[in-house]
Amino acid sequence: MIAVGIDVGGTSIKGATINEKGEILDRFSMPTDKSLPPEKIIGELCDLVNQTLSEHHYDDKVVGIGIGIPGTFNKETGVIVNLPNIPSWNDFNLKTFMEERCHLYVKLVNDADAAALAEAKFGVAKEFNYVLMITLGTGVGGGIVINKNLYNGNLGMGAELGHMVIELDGKECGCGRHGCFEAYASATALIRDTKEAMAKAPNSLMNEVANELGQIDARVPFIAEERGDLTAKEVINNYVKYLSEGLLNYCNIFRPNVIVLSGGVANEGENLLSRVRSYMKAHHYGMENAPEVEIKQASLGYDAGKIGAAALYL
Ligand SMILES: [Zn+2]
Repeated sequence: MIAVGIDVGGTSIKGATINEKGEILDRFSMPTDKSLPPEKIIGELCDLVNQTLSEHHYDDKVVGIGIGIPGTFNKETGVIVNLPNIPSWNDFNLKTFMEERCHLYVKLVNDADAAALAEAKFGVAKEFNYVLMITLGTGVGGGIVINKNLYNGNLGMGAELGHMVIELDGKECGCGRHGCFEAYASATALIRDTKEAMAKAPNSLMNEVANELGQIDARVPFIAEERGDLTAKEVINNYVKYLSEGLLNYCNIFRPNVIVLSGGVANEGENLLSRVRSYMKAHHYGMENAPEVEIKQASLGYDAGKIGAAALYL
């Protein structure tokens, strides 16, 4: 059995054929030309899928196409509701168009949900029934997987885990509210806090590290702290506090077996995860009696979106 998994991004569309073990067989990709109408660009995508399948004689083994979307859509009709990065696709019926062109079933999935499903079925969380995945990138994305099935609410528009308010009247969030988890736990938030601390403390080693890297990114405070910088340590401790408080809220609501962290900041690995674990241990509701929630780093990297989209069938 084989399924096609596609990950739509703002600069490129990447896809793969994937077997029932979640292994990638063949890859294909094309640029996301936002100036083209959706019929044209998705038409090209369908040609690419059809060509890949016929080249490898998969035709009779393929069960369907899963396509990960960086935005919202109507799960039942397959119509795109809002793609902030590719607005020309809004109101387009992606599902019907692709099903007619590829003669296969097509399912749409939110890209963060796809990554969560991939980790829960084939990645670091495959042993567990209750899985939460949180992506700490430009924003904060999330996915909830219960017994290997995604939970994403009415019409698939729930599980917006980044937009839980953790500080009333707090920092402004991209969604229009104030004090969302995303405004404190995203890589963007960490970079904002780093810049603010650097401006206040010109002698901080973070300035030196930023010069070496040629930019201010989420690595700056971690590298500076390793060199003994106390301002960097403060920035990280504050970040860990907000991140962990948000994760504790999820624990109290879902009591998952595991929370998987991915995205730019999660690349710090154990250096970050160990601090989050110890903060959570100290502040966990019912921790002495409740089952422990494991905190793990995602394992599938950039392939998670494709594997998860295909995993809707596998
Ligand atoms: Zn928000």
